[in-house]
Amino acid sequence: MVQSELIRGIFFDIQGFSVHDGPGCRTLIFFKGCSLSCAWCCNPEGLNAFPEPLYNASKCVFDELCMQACPNQAIGKNGQELVFNRNLCRDCTTYNCTKACCSGALRLGGYTLGVEELFTIIQRDRQYWGDEGGITLTGGEPFLQPDFAVQILKRCYDSFIHTAVETCGNVPWDNIERSLNYIDWIFYDLKQIDNRKHILMTSKGNNLILDNARRLAKVFKGRIIFRMPVIPGFNDDEANIHQLSDFLNSIKKDEINILPVHHLGKEKYNLVGKGYYTDDYRIPAIEDLQKIQSIFQSLGIRCYIGSETPF
Ligand code: SF4
Ligand code: SF4
Repeated sequence: MVQSELIRGIFFDIQGFSVHDGPGCRTLIFFKGCSLSCAWCCNPEGLNAFPEPLYNASKCVFDELCMQACPNQAIGKNGQELVFNRNLCRDCTTYNCTKACCSGALRLGGYTLGVEELFTIIQRDRQYWGDEGGITLTGGEPFLQPDFAVQILKRCYDSFIHTAVETCGNVPWDNIERSLNYIDWIFYDLKQIDNRKHILMTSKGNNLILDNARRLAKVFKGRIIFRMPVIPGFNDDEANIHQLSDFLNSIKKDEINILPVHHLGKEKYNLVGKGYYTDDYRIPAIEDLQKIQSIFQSLGIRCYIGSETPF
């Protein structure tokens, strides 16, 4: 058995027909597990690096079949809702709760695939990609599964499939470096230069992220597009834009894509038993984004708003 058949990746979604995360039409592969916890994350079901129950309380009939079926006593009650101790789901192999539930209140979020299994799924979309399309690894954080990431990227690259990766950068450098020969484009998040604010809103500092960005700028031969989610009150101030521009200029990179925060992921927070923190943020108006764009551009950085990035 070759090594690639032994490695299994964990995912929470695969979506075809995307036109926002790389050139042409693309298939997006969502890796499960992330090293940050951004307050505005729109994919909370991608944060834990293991399959877990997604619970829709509005469909629950409270017959407790799931509680009886769970081998780890991971399910308890809190008034008219169930609560899950998801740490106990980390090593679950049965997912009996989702099998026992007949009302549709529980379904399993996350699944594993081997390299060839995923490649077969990817290949089904090939006819829709056109000349420029391909795959984009996203998440979650693809480089938290470096063994799988390098295998699937190499498999695609060797088959002349355009490859892109979207990363938060908060991973050991080696996790990124070993895949670089098989990546055409990288989308790299830069959220906030101030380390203290970065910790406050993402749970981690940005030293590793900035170090990896410096290294990437030196050695990566493909295209890097930096991305900044615009979160009013967190990173839309002029000081941050100036410091981000200084940083990009210092590593000789001049492209950034700014993306307005949105609330489309709000309902999913209930499914994974987390509170939603982002209600306080207003969605930035186009004028706000244009102001940020003009500051970046005045400092020598080509700045694209939303889907305006030329692919
Ligand atoms: S995933 Fe496993 S451990 Fe978690 S609640 Fe379901 S059966 Fe129990
Ligand atoms: S089995 Fe389904 S319907 Fe019954 S208590 Fe559990 S989640 Fe609710």
